[in-house]
Amino acid sequence: MQNYYTCYCDTENPFSDCCEPFLKNTKQAKTPLQLMRSRFTAYKLGGYGEYLLKTWFPLMSQGLDVAELSQKSRDWQHLTIINKSQLGDNGLVEFKAQYLDAAGAEQTHHEHSIFKRIKGVWLYIGEEITSK
Ligand SMILES: [Zn+2]
Repeated sequence: MQNYYTCYCDTENPFSDCCEPFLKNTKQAKTPLQLMRSRFTAYKLGGYGEYLLKTWFPLMSQGLDVAELSQKSRDWQHLTIINKSQLGDNGLVEFKAQYLDAAGAEQTHHEHSIFKRIKGVWLYIGEEITSK
């Protein structure tokens, strides 16, 4: 048994030393991966709509509000980072995240997330649309 809460974002780090400082606005994500992980944790825990909105490129989050984003829209289970890359102020993170659907069956959300650093702050742009 662990004597601290391991973070939800697929690290072995304690929550208090991983995503929590980002969610509580005491630290700012230094990499797209940190931001991606913290946003997953925000979705997983619920109640962090303000953080999700703050870390979202404004043009891409139009029409979304804090109350909506604070709801646990899905029963998120587990995050797996597949790939990440960063070139200057542009970042990409590929991940898979498992969640349970209404019937309790495990589903997988697979996304290539695009991030951009604007005035020193990493923001989530959105999901890369790939031709499948
Ligand atoms: Zn974390």
